[in-house]
Amino acid sequence: MDINKDDQLIKASELVRTSRVGVHSHIRGLGLTDELDPRPVSNGLVGQLRARKAAGYIVRMVKDGKVTGRAVLLAGQPGTGKTAIAMAIAKEMGEGTPATLMSASEIFSPEMSTAEALTQAIRRSVGIRIKEETEIIEGEVVEVTIERPATTSGAKAGRLTLKTTEMETIYDLGGKMIESIIKENIAAGDIITIDKATGRIAKLGRSFTRARDYDAQGAQTRFIQTPEGELQKRKEVTHMVSLHDIDVINSRQQGFLALFSGDTGEIKQEIRDQINQKVAEWKEEGKAEIVPGILFIDEVHMLTIECFAFLNRALESDNAPIVIMATNRGITKIRGTNELSPHGMPMDLLDRTLIIMTEPYSEADIKQILQIRCEEEDASVTEEALNALAELAKSTSLRYVMQLIMVAKVLCRRRKATEINTEDISRSYRLFSDERRSEEWLNRLSDQFLFHHGTNGQLNLA
Ligand code: ATP
Repeated sequence: MDINKDDQLIKASELVRTSRVGVHSHIRGLGLTDELDPRPVSNGLVGQLRARKAAGYIVRMVKDGKVTGRAVLLAGQPGTGKTAIAMAIAKEMGEGTPATLMSASEIFSPEMSTAEALTQAIRRSVGIRIKEETEIIEGEVVEVTIERPATTSGAKAGRLTLKTTEMETIYDLGGKMIESIIKENIAAGDIITIDKATGRIAKLGRSFTRARDYDAQGAQTRFIQTPEGELQKRKEVTHMVSLHDIDVINSRQQGFLALFSGDTGEIKQEIRDQINQKVAEWKEEGKAEIVPGILFIDEVHMLTIECFAFLNRALESDNAPIVIMATNRGITKIRGTNELSPHGMPMDLLDRTLIIMTEPYSEADIKQILQIRCEEEDASVTEEALNALAELAKSTSLRYVMQLIMVAKVLCRRRKATEINTEDISRSYRLFSDERRSEEWLNRLSDQFLFHHGTNGQLNLA
């Protein structure tokens, strides 16, 4: 009975599983050994061994803090895993290094200039690790007394007495709000801690209030009879914020709420200058460390010549992040000019860029990638159907075939089966056109469409 009940529970939870599966959600890292040798299939990545190894060196260099301001270009045909590798690099960096992923088209918006958008993207990719040493006083509460009135502003004061075998600390509190917080949450017998620097009171890891709150109410935080030594515990706490976060918080126009809405608008240069100076001081005093991270710009050929010039200059700054770009373009015009250049990028930027090339996949690699995607999408598939998908990818594209998995899964469910078969694949293929068939169809019916350019580039106005 119990087993059946559990079974049902599992089924129910499967039914309510609503998590969305992104196109790169199967990528968990670069899949390299400690010696940076790529495993053929690992961490969701398949093949592309040379590019993965090169990417591994980039990660190693950034982690070692040896390089800043380098540019890397992932270049290769569409669907050869450039974005997938960039995602893997970001995963490898881990929480401790900021990584910003964006498409070049995001630089262009009516709200801000391209220079401002690029500056924000760059500053988002530079982390500031702030170190704080705090002294924690821990003790058992023996008494909580509330006295009033304590201040002329009418705020009430509370007095909290902490007592342990070795010390007695009296802690003055102010303000009505503080009074009720303390009354409701702290009683004799509780073990609490007080952070000496900030006045933060915590009970079992739950923080109640901070010195800043008392100051706002005109009262003071005061420690009396605190013995040196034993009972004061030192604890180092580190926080990681990006340069952009500090800009936004200090920009009076925006305020810190803009951090959540993302609606930051333009930030004044003078604020940035002040912050750069402050951060340099913190660094000097050993209070903060600058952590240059990664800025990934996909479809980089969409940038204009002005943006490239801006990037080129920004890379020269001491704290610039590593800029990783990706493009599938061959020799093409640099936007904003009539000049042709490899990947549509100016030569001076290309010249300082490390280029990683991705290569077209073998059929075996494609099959392996499709297998991983089927697992990621919870789609069981017969060997025959998987072969059919891989075969289809040769005449269409890997991306198109990946999309068919989801359609085939729905069709498979509709016929109440659990495994996708070749018929599901073939029906999905008939339902949704790929790029080549769509183009053939347009050309066949060219005279029935408006503004049709023939394949020779001529406009059909008939
Ligand atoms: P484009 O030039 O069109 O932007 P791209 O080179 O950036 O293409 P991706 O978007 O990375 O290509 O790849 C297409 C799909 O195939 C994605 O879902 C990606 O996660 C997957 N993919 C590509 N290469 C690999 C690989 N080596 N291992 C696993 N999945 C891969």
